[in-house]
Amino acid sequence: MAETLEQFHARSINDREGFWAEQARLIDWNEPFRQVLDYSRPPFARWFVGGTTNLCHNAVDRHLASLGDKPALIYVSTETGAERTWTFAELHREVMRMAAIMQAHGVGRGDRVLIYMPMIAEAVFAILACARIGAIHSVVFGGFASNSLAARIDDATPKMLISADAGSRAGKIIEYKPLIERALGMCAHQPDKVLMVDRHLAAFEPVPGRDLDYATEREAHIDAEIPVTWLESNEVSYTLYTSGTTGKPKGVQRDVGGYAVALAASMAHIFDGRPGETYFATSDIGWVVGHSYIIYGPLIAGMATIVYEGTPVRPDAGILWQLVEKYRVTVMFSAPTAIRVLKKQDSAWLTKYDTSSLRSLFLAGEPLDEPTARWIAEGLGRQVIDNYWQTETGWPILSVAHAIENTPVRHGSPGKVLYGYDVRLLHEQTGEEVGANEKGVITIVPPLPPGCMQTVWGDDARFVSTYFESIPGRMVYSTFDWGLRDEDGYYFILGRTDDVINVAGHRLGTREIEESISSHPAVAECAVVGVADSLKGQVAVAFAVLKDPDAHAQPDRKLALEGEIMAVVDKSLGAVARPARVHLVTALPKTRSGKVLRRSIQALCEDRDPGDLTTIEEPATLDQIRDALGR
Ligand code: ATP
Ligand code: MG
Repeated sequence: MAETLEQFHARSINDREGFWAEQARLIDWNEPFRQVLDYSRPPFARWFVGGTTNLCHNAVDRHLASLGDKPALIYVSTETGAERTWTFAELHREVMRMAAIMQAHGVGRGDRVLIYMPMIAEAVFAILACARIGAIHSVVFGGFASNSLAARIDDATPKMLISADAGSRAGKIIEYKPLIERALGMCAHQPDKVLMVDRHLAAFEPVPGRDLDYATEREAHIDAEIPVTWLESNEVSYTLYTSGTTGKPKGVQRDVGGYAVALAASMAHIFDGRPGETYFATSDIGWVVGHSYIIYGPLIAGMATIVYEGTPVRPDAGILWQLVEKYRVTVMFSAPTAIRVLKKQDSAWLTKYDTSSLRSLFLAGEPLDEPTARWIAEGLGRQVIDNYWQTETGWPILSVAHAIENTPVRHGSPGKVLYGYDVRLLHEQTGEEVGANEKGVITIVPPLPPGCMQTVWGDDARFVSTYFESIPGRMVYSTFDWGLRDEDGYYFILGRTDDVINVAGHRLGTREIEESISSHPAVAECAVVGVADSLKGQVAVAFAVLKDPDAHAQPDRKLALEGEIMAVVDKSLGAVARPARVHLVTALPKTRSGKVLRRSIQALCEDRDPGDLTTIEEPATLDQIRDALGR
């Protein structure tokens, strides 16, 4: 009889080494590992010790015999109109050319390459080329401000920087070269070479002796044959920063073998993607979803992956589904924020195209409120699967694993605990485990499973102190998120540990209030923060975005809605949770990865400095908050 998810999970914890040795067969090894897990230096885990493998080999070369002439990379830009497919054989050639360029300019095993690029195929070639030769890639979200780029350059100390003349977003050209030059002007470290892909979107002046032109270099290495460099499983594959939603971004470092195995396993068990099919993740290569589920995961599984430069609403709100139809996408991955953008549009777009190829739409990155989950699931008539994880873990912690067991999804819950993770909900102060339906900090008993971060890049002490020392008396990994588990094992995310507010002695998760407000049919999305109050300690203050943008011009309607929203909260959570104010705005401040910057909103509400804003998407949204507050 087939295993249940619960049995599968139990085996992954009780027979950790046996379980992961079995999963390790999903990828190719050049030399077998001697030891599944070395946990002699807690909390540092070393997986598949002594084994040699390569991420690029597993993503590309391994498929050449069976899938060589099948699509591997499908590039679509609604910004430039470009659309092109590379087969696995063609992708292999391009990656070898890129690897040859790197090697010719002195980049070798263990050297860092900083990739600051828009969503173009060359970014994928560059990432895979690094993996191929054992160089460590550090991707910085394209278009980030110079100061964030500079900090990451100094942290990674790359030999080479790879970039492009420009990115484009919603029709607006973002010139990269001036941002790079400004960043390098601030840096202590200078890369030897800057490789520039010229898209002919913005003119720029190359720096003689330092800047290289990709087209010229590619021509020079057109016939290059660069074999993969076999790496020990625990060598470093890449570094990547967290989104910076709660503070200063943390530099996550990942290995080679553990990551490859974790992704292969997740594709098989959770995403259920099969060779020859097409995967479409709408994220960006600058985020962990881009690393795990635009590039490595789908390719390791032998799937074609769509790399999309564009927004969900251009040229119209049907574009994502048009691509699903055209490329017969079977597995899709997006973020709640993208779905909320679509929710403001006509839902007829959801049925305009044939999306019957789609088995599941996975959503992650932020709490997926029940109304939004239901809207998209019903509108598309496809299965919508929430999944909860972090840059640090690299792959889902909570979800369902339909290739193991057909666990029903429950909208509003990201699902159950997945194999590999020994998740415990702990009381913040006592460190005791909480019972069913009780709120606790979501923690993971180490060792963390394969694929999770090895350490903070260059700072083992920070890894331990940041993640493993927050719960008194227990060395557990903290996610810094609140959660709750019901009797059936379904989890609910109740917000960040720093998002809990205390109103006259009652501890409330801002997320619960947000969920309640989102259930009002006029609300597209909202953010709730706790604001210091001399009488009650803290009060909740809400900022809501309406589905109907015209409502903002109607003061009576606005006033009525504020009252209705408060009434909704009263009814579902009680008057204690009722926001002291409901401000209606047209947009919320978010990180570039689509996460609401609650800490900045809260700071403005308390008349403080909004803090580190290097990852903010639209600084003007903060002005709306200031206006609403009358500042
Ligand atoms: P930083 O750690 O720098 O403050 P961040 O936590 O936003 O930024 P990410 O690693 O991109 O950086 O995001 C992980 C976080 O996103 C999780 O800890 C959780 O708070 C939230 N999250 C991710 N997926 C979900 C989900 N399905 N439901 C609820 N929250 C989610
Ligand atoms: Mg985080």
